[in-house]
Amino acid sequence: MFLQRSAIAVARRAAVAPAVRRTLATTAVRRDAEVPQKKYKTLSEVKTADDLFGPGAEPGTVPTDIEQSTGLERLEILGKMEGVDVFDMRPLDASRLGTLSNPVLIRSFGDEQYAGCTGVPADSHNVIWLTMSRERPIERCPECGSVYKMEYVGPQDDHHGHDHHHGFEEPKSFADFVKPEYH
Ligand SMILES: [Zn+2]
Repeated sequence: MFLQRSAIAVARRAAVAPAVRRTLATTAVRRDAEVPQKKYKTLSEVKTADDLFGPGAEPGTVPTDIEQSTGLERLEILGKMEGVDVFDMRPLDASRLGTLSNPVLIRSFGDEQYAGCTGVPADSHNVIWLTMSRERPIERCPECGSVYKMEYVGPQDDHHGHDHHHGFEEPKSFADFVKPEYH
């Protein structure tokens, strides 16, 4: 999936590259010439978080992003250099209205995910932000009714569910707000 997308991204970049190169300042070209050999790990060489450190800048120079960025920022930059969209920044699927039986899936690495719905087709209504979580993955747009579902793809061995240790239970309906003695 990544490969397919990266091929498209590379092709797209190749199509616009000549125009971009002409608009670059000459300092940028000279800067390229100063870095003849690769001194950092490429995307395929990154195995652990320890690989996401840059070589740093030469003394007396201003560091570039590829020289000094670390962590997730570095992973994103390394991906962009090879045409890989690490964080999957494509817009959501707006070709159809999500339903409860067939929701629009949103992959997420975190406990929560925010998604902006603009209706079907896209931009049919103003952006309405929806919040999904691992506890409550399904959300429905109050404007157009499209249903979204968060698909958790992050690590499984984290401290998921620690909120429950504090006794917090998210209200499921307005009936849950009524004191038990009034039932
Ligand atoms: Zn909507």
